Amino acid sequence: MSIDLHTHSTASDGTLSPTELIKLANDSGLDAIAITDHDTFQGVPEALEAGKKFGIEVIPGCEMSLESPVGAGWMHVVGLWLPPKSEELQTAFDWVLEGRKTRNHEIVKKLRSLGISITYDAVAARAKGTLGRPHFAQELVSLGVVSSVNEAFKVWLGDNGRAYVPKRKLQPKQALGILKNIGATAILAHPFALGLNYTQIEELVRELMDDGLDGIEVYYSEHDDAATKGFLEIAQRLGLLISGGSDFHGDVKPSISLGKGKGGLHVPTELLDIMKEDRRSKGLPV
Ligand code: AMP
Ligand code: FE
Ligand code: FE
Ligand code: ZN
Repeated sequence: MSIDLHTHSTASDGTLSPTELIKLANDSGLDAIAITDHDTFQGVPEALEAGKKFGIEVIPGCEMSLESPVGAGWMHVVGLWLPPKSEELQTAFDWVLEGRKTRNHEIVKKLRSLGISITYDAVAARAKGTLGRPHFAQELVSLGVVSSVNEAFKVWLGDNGRAYVPKRKLQPKQALGILKNIGATAILAHPFALGLNYTQIEELVRELMDDGLDGIEVYYSEHDDAATKGFLEIAQRLGLLISGGSDFHGDVKPSISLGKGKGGLHVPTELLDIMKEDRRSKGLPV
C-alpha cells in the first residue's frame, strides 16, 4: 500500500509522457501518484485522464524552485491538489519560464565558448515542456562530450560545473502565498538538498510555515534512514504533514524507480489519507 507524491513527466524534464507515467504507477501497484513537473501544470490534464483510464488516483501538482537563504542549497516546494485553472500560478510559471529561456541561451553560449558545438535548437528539440539542464545533459551525452547524464552535471551543468548558470526563482513567500491562495497543499521537497543541519532546517521550516508551508517530504529517494528519522522528527515536532516521493524522472535518472526510489523507498498510503483529512478539515477539495 504505497504512493509516490513527487514525479516528473515530459511536461518538464522526465522522459515518460504523463500517460506513460500514470500507467507505470498503476503497473507498479501504487495506490496514488502525484504528477509534479517543474514550473508547469501542462501535463496535469493528460495525467488525470490517464488516471481515470487506468483506475489509479492522480493528484495534480507541480514543483517550484525557490530562492533559498544565503549559504543554503536548493529549496524546492511541491504543490499538491492544484486547481484545474489558475491565472495566478500561470503568471508565476510564465515569469519563471521566461527566465529559463534566457538562462538556457546563456548555457549554450557558455558551452560553445568552452569549445562544445552544441546548439539551442538541438537541446530545445529534446523537450516537450519545461526545458532544463537534464535536456542539456542528454544532448552532451549524445554529442559524446560525456558518457552519462551524471557526468554532464558533474563537469558542465551542476552548480560547480564549467557552464553553470543560475536560474530565476520565486521568493518563498511569493510561491507559498500563491499555493495558499489557490488552495494547494505546499510541501517542502527533499529537505536534505538545503544542505543545512537539522537545527537550521527546523528554524527555516518554522519561517516557511508562517508563509503557508503545510508539510515536508520526509520520505525521499536520497534520504537514508538517519535523514528520514531526522526529518520525521521535525515534522512531528512542528505538526507538519508528512509527504514522500521518489522524484522519478525516467531515463535521465535511471537509478530512481517510481515509488521505490533507489530500492528502499516506501511511502505509506496512510500519509495521503492524513493529507486529505487535513484538507477536508479546511474545506479544501480532495
Ligand atoms: P534545472 O531545473 O534546469 O536547474 O535542472 C534541475 C534538474 O536537474 C532537476 O530535476 C534535477 O533532478 C536534475 N539533476 C540535477 N543533478 C542531476 C544529476 N546528477 N543527474 C540527473 N539529473 C540531475
Ligand atoms: Fe527535474
Ligand atoms: Fe526538486
Ligand atoms: Zn523533482
